[in-house]
Amino acid sequence: MDEIKAGTGMSVRARPEILAMKGYVSARSLVATGGSTVFLDANECPYEPFVGASGLARYPMQQPPELVRAICDWLDLSSRNVTVARGADEGIDCLMRAFCVPAVDNVIICPPTFAMYAQSAMLQGVEVRKVPLADDFGLDTGGIMAAVDGDTKMVFVCSPNNPTANLMDRDAVAGLCTALSGRALVVVDETYIDYADADSMAAELERFENLVVLRTLSKSHAAAGLRCGVTVARADVTELLQKVLAPYPVPQPVVQAALAILTPANQARLASRREEIIARRDAFAAQALATGPVKKILPTDANYLLMIVDDADALCARAADQGYILRNQSHQPGLAGAIRVSIGTDDEMDGLLAILRGDALDAPAEERVARHVRKTSETAIAVEVNLDRKAPVRIDTGVGFYDHMLDQIAKHAGFSLQLECDGDLHIDPHHTVEDCAIALGIAIRTALGDKRGIGRYGFCLPMDEALVTVALDLSGRYYLDFKGDFPADHVGDLPTDMIEHIFRSLAENLQANLHIAVEGDNAHHMVEACFKGFARSLRQAIRQDGADLPSTKGTL
Ligand SMILES: *Cc1c(COP(=O)(O)O)cnc(C)c1O
Repeated sequence: MDEIKAGTGMSVRARPEILAMKGYVSARSLVATGGSTVFLDANECPYEPFVGASGLARYPMQQPPELVRAICDWLDLSSRNVTVARGADEGIDCLMRAFCVPAVDNVIICPPTFAMYAQSAMLQGVEVRKVPLADDFGLDTGGIMAAVDGDTKMVFVCSPNNPTANLMDRDAVAGLCTALSGRALVVVDETYIDYADADSMAAELERFENLVVLRTLSKSHAAAGLRCGVTVARADVTELLQKVLAPYPVPQPVVQAALAILTPANQARLASRREEIIARRDAFAAQALATGPVKKILPTDANYLLMIVDDADALCARAADQGYILRNQSHQPGLAGAIRVSIGTDDEMDGLLAILRGDALDAPAEERVARHVRKTSETAIAVEVNLDRKAPVRIDTGVGFYDHMLDQIAKHAGFSLQLECDGDLHIDPHHTVEDCAIALGIAIRTALGDKRGIGRYGFCLPMDEALVTVALDLSGRYYLDFKGDFPADHVGDLPTDMIEHIFRSLAENLQANLHIAVEGDNAHHMVEACFKGFARSLRQAIRQDGADLPSTKGTL
C-alpha cells in the first residue's frame, strides 16, 4: 500500500472537526526512544513501582513499536495499516468517533449480529440502519445498497457472524467494497476468522480503499482478559484512528503478554488448540442433536454454535440452575428458539450434554484438582493435575524424553496431568527438568489436600535386566534416598545426572519420604523403570479409600 496523501482516500469522509483538529501530542509521541534518552518531560518517577517491575514507570508509546512489529508479522501487514487498541471494541468506537457526525450520519448493521456496532453508534448519537441478513444468514447486498445514502459512513459485516456463526461470502463483501468506494467504509469484523477455513479479507486492502478489518487476541488467541485488538485499514484511515485513540491505550504488561502470545511457537500451539476446539465442537454438535430438546444446530465457522430448541428460556434457566451459563439469542429477529453455546473443555461439554439429556447433574464430586503456575527468569510452567481422573494427559516440556517419563508417571499413577513448560532450553535442559519436577510436586501435594483416605506405598518393578525398588510415604516430611549409577550420561535428550535431581525435587515438593534403588546395564531401562516404579507407588499412595487419615498422629 502506498502512502496516501492527507485529504485523499476515505479520510475525506471523516468528521470535518476531526480532520481539522490537531492530534494530542503525548509525552511519548515526540521522541524516538534511544538508549541515552533522558526523560524529564512527563512527570513520571525515575524508579519502578515495586521490586521486579519492569517498564511500568514510563508512559508507553501509543502504538508500542515492538508489539506493532509482532502484529505486522502475524497479519503480514505494514505498520501504516494497523492500529492496536483495547480490543476490537475500541477499534469500533474509534471508527465511529472519527467518521460519524452525531445526529447527521448513519451506519448500517445486518442483524442478527454483534451488539457493539449499534451500541457504539448510539453512544456517538449516530443513526443505526438495520438491514437483516437473508434467510440463510448471508448478506442482503441489495438491501444494504438501498439503505445507503449520502450520510452513510459505515457498513458493518461480521464474518464469521456472531451469533449465527457463518462466514460471509467473500465476493459479496468485495462487491460491497466496490459499490461503496469513496462513500462508506466496509468494516469486516474477523474476530473468529482463525476458526474458519478462509483467508482474512485484510489481503484485499490494496484493492479497496474503504475496507477496514477488525482482528483481536480475545477469542482465537485465548486472551479476552488482555484487551488487545487490531484495526486494519489504509494509511489515511489509520492516521485518523490514531488521532482519536487515547494517547496510551496499550498498557506495558499487555505489550509483554501480547508479545508472548504472538511468538511463532506459541501461535503454533494456539493453532493446534483451535483444532481441538473445532473437533470438540463437531463431536458435541452431533451428540447434542441426538438429545430431546435440540431440534437443529446451524452450520458453524466459529468456536461456538447456535442450537435451536423448543423453549430457549426454559433450557437456559435449567442450565443456569446447574451452573451452566448459555447465551439466549431467541429474542433476536429470525432466531426463535436459538441458544448460543461456546465450546469449552471436554468435561464442560459433557456436562452440557447431560443437561440437554435431562439428567440431573450429580453435585460435582469433590475431585482432587490443583493448578500451579510457576514463573522464573528461566522457565514458565503451567501444571494441572486431577488425581481423580485419568485424562487428559498432555505434557510438553520441550525435552522429549522427559515428556515421555512424565507421561509414564501420569499413566502409571492413573491421574490426569497437563503440564506445559517454556524453558531456557537454548542453555540446557537443567532448569526445565528441575522446575517441572518442582511444579509437579507442588501440584500433587496441593491436590492431595488434607490427605484423608489415602495410602502410603511402595513398588518393585523389573524392566528387562533393570530392577527398581521404590518406597514412597506421603508423610508430610521430605526425605530422599536415591541409589543408582547410570551407565550412560544421557537417555534421549535427558541427562541422567538429572534423574536424582528430579526425584529430589518431586519428593521435596510433595513433602514425601522417597526411597529409590535401581540396578541394571541399560540406562534407558533403568530410567524408565524409576519413573514407572515411582508412578506405581504414587498410584497406591494417592488412591482414596474411605476418609480416614492413615496416621495415628491425626495429621499427615
Ligand atoms: C467478542 C467479539 C468482539 C470483541 O472483541 P474484543 O477484541 O474483545 O473487544 C468483537 N466482535 C465480535 C463479533 C465478537 O464476538
